[in-house]
Amino acid sequence: MSKQQRSFYQSVSDYFDRAAPHTGLHPGLLEQIKVCNSVIQVHFPVKIGKEVKVIEAYRVQHSHHRSPTKGGIRFSNHVNQEEVMALATLMTFKCAIVDVPFGGAKGGVKINPWEYTAGQLEKITRRYTTELIQRNFIGPAIDVPAPDYGTGSREMAWIYDTYRTFKGEELNAAACVTGKPVNQNGVRGRTEATGRGVYYGIREACSNADDMKKLGLEPGIEGKTMVVQGLGNVGSYTSIISQDEGGVKIIGVSEVEGAIYDPKGIDIHKLLQFRKETGSILNYPGAESYSKESRKSVMEFECDILVPAALENQITLDNAHRVKAKIIAEAANGPITSAAEKVLLDAGKLILPDLFLNAGGVTVSYFEWLKNLSHIRFGRMDKRFNQRTYDSILDVVEQNTGKDINERDRQFIARGADEIDLVRSGLEETMIHAYNEIRDIWKRKKKVDDLRTAAFISAINKISSDYMALGIFP
Ligand code: GLU
Repeated sequence: MSKQQRSFYQSVSDYFDRAAPHTGLHPGLLEQIKVCNSVIQVHFPVKIGKEVKVIEAYRVQHSHHRSPTKGGIRFSNHVNQEEVMALATLMTFKCAIVDVPFGGAKGGVKINPWEYTAGQLEKITRRYTTELIQRNFIGPAIDVPAPDYGTGSREMAWIYDTYRTFKGEELNAAACVTGKPVNQNGVRGRTEATGRGVYYGIREACSNADDMKKLGLEPGIEGKTMVVQGLGNVGSYTSIISQDEGGVKIIGVSEVEGAIYDPKGIDIHKLLQFRKETGSILNYPGAESYSKESRKSVMEFECDILVPAALENQITLDNAHRVKAKIIAEAANGPITSAAEKVLLDAGKLILPDLFLNAGGVTVSYFEWLKNLSHIRFGRMDKRFNQRTYDSILDVVEQNTGKDINERDRQFIARGADEIDLVRSGLEETMIHAYNEIRDIWKRKKKVDDLRTAAFISAINKISSDYMALGIFP
């Protein structure tokens, strides 16, 4: 592939290489931080009706500088090794940006999940999990999967149950996977977490009057117009929360069947209901409809904020110059190629990069993992225990896992409130803090012209300090 048309993995690699010289680190250390540490590819058979279907699947652990490694499992026909490597790499940097003490990982199963029944998906998920168990690629202190494109809490429950079947004697077995249903050791607020984090990130960026002035926009999120690509988990929660809590006007939406646009505004609740009833967003009353055959791209709609919330490589050199939005908020992983990004930055757009903006999912996964290790539901404990008792429980967790739980997380867990409020406030604080950390680097460092490079610099520096403190074995 030419320098012009970059694959997802090449784009991530380009972003890393652009940030690396600003860190002043030794090339060998940078190389170690960049490469994927472990990659497995498996092929396994699953009986589907009378047929035997051979399934191709992956798990990539990008970085062992911290353990466990962490990242979702994707079910999609487009899965391939390079894609999973790119996603795992982003997970490492994502965790570092929000100070979640994990290395990055990602899994992928090459299937179209919408072509299978629930029973067939269960078989595939359980067999894939068994492959991971056999290779020691899953466990509360090893590698902890979560939902991603094409998977959700149902699949996570199957993974947990399969793990329990083989490793039920482990005290912390529930922490082998996050994004579980709330009644199966999940945490309240995980399902909405990525979309909610995207909203907090956009809101924080819009609150800066100087940055908004440069874009010709008023400060504040209220009243801004938004176009969203994809109504999956991330796209729908981003839209709902932006509309209901931020006062954003959603004016365009796209899904597999096509796109709709209405500058007067589209009520997202009514649209979701309409799609549920008709199976499509097309012909939504009052809006202009464009079927997928019309090839009218949602990326080109007039708006303040464009939110790609589907898959990678959506803005390329082919359409980048037609993007009209002033802010592009990367709710998906890798929606812009590195070549297209240059076109957008030259046109003065503000890009809120994936490794920061969609880190809300893994942030709340971390809360779930902590909850599973402590074996107590957040919020409930301080009604039953005092702070000293609670601190000693966390000390035991630290001793058992060898991990430090810092003061901020201790206070977060111990504050008395309902679990959902604790999760939301912890997520909000995390996103605000992370944004200001990367914005500071962007503004402070000469020759750093964009938030993505700033985010990579911040992440690489944090990871390198682990390597330097730990030393290199042997
Ligand atoms: N799949 C999500 C992501 O790409 C969440 C990962 C997790 O919670 O571990 O960030």
